[in-house]
Amino acid sequence: MDGSSAPVTAPVLILLGPPGAGKGTQARMLEDKFGLVQLSTGDLLRAAVKQGTEAGQKARAVMDSGGLVSDDIVISILRDRLGDPDTARGVILDGFPRTTPQAEALERLLAERDQKIDAAISLEVDESEMVTRISGRFSCADCGEGYHDTFKAPQVEGVCDVCAGTKMTRRADDTPETVSSRLAAYHAQTAPLVRYYDARGALHRIPAMGTISDVATRLDAIVKGTRG
Ligand code: AMP
Repeated sequence: MDGSSAPVTAPVLILLGPPGAGKGTQARMLEDKFGLVQLSTGDLLRAAVKQGTEAGQKARAVMDSGGLVSDDIVISILRDRLGDPDTARGVILDGFPRTTPQAEALERLLAERDQKIDAAISLEVDESEMVTRISGRFSCADCGEGYHDTFKAPQVEGVCDVCAGTKMTRRADDTPETVSSRLAAYHAQTAPLVRYYDARGALHRIPAMGTISDVATRLDAIVKGTRG
């Protein structure tokens, strides 16, 4: 040590799991509870599509088909977002990395910032339930709060509990056909990351089939553990 104080490193958490495992819902809850920043490449890509950026135009058809957008595009979008000052509080990566090259790129990006992955948390689910979970979900168009027809309906139908917005949206890729393609992409390209992080001693597996709050309790314990 050179006498200067050691940098306080902000936590970096990864949520792994197939589409519908609850990554987005849980990431938003962790954001509220621990002041971390949710980084969802799916959200960043949907914003790029909406804005009509070059990356968004390239990504659109792939997203609609349920495949994975190219590593180059996704890594570049994530690199830009990681450069925003709010990420210094610590981040929860939701939907990234999804391939081994993305995982390797993430390690390099973090190393440049003197950071490392504190925990990669695999949300383990029964996949036969995933189509039901995904096909019932929708969100508030104004604030993004997520809902589900069966598991988390707004208190007043059609009105957001958080911001009182009345416009709800469903994702274009939440159809049964696209969900099957997304699950196939998960198995072929993303599931190997569970072993990748296990080999690095960073993996935590948690059952993710209970209620939203049961799963949140399990996650909280892991996040608290990473904070010493
Ligand atoms: P998500 O919101 O995480 O379910 O992502 C929606 C869609 O965006 C995925 O089906 C992919 O087409 C694309 N996508 C999101 N994150 C990634 C990623 N890390 N790598 C490749 N494609 C991604």
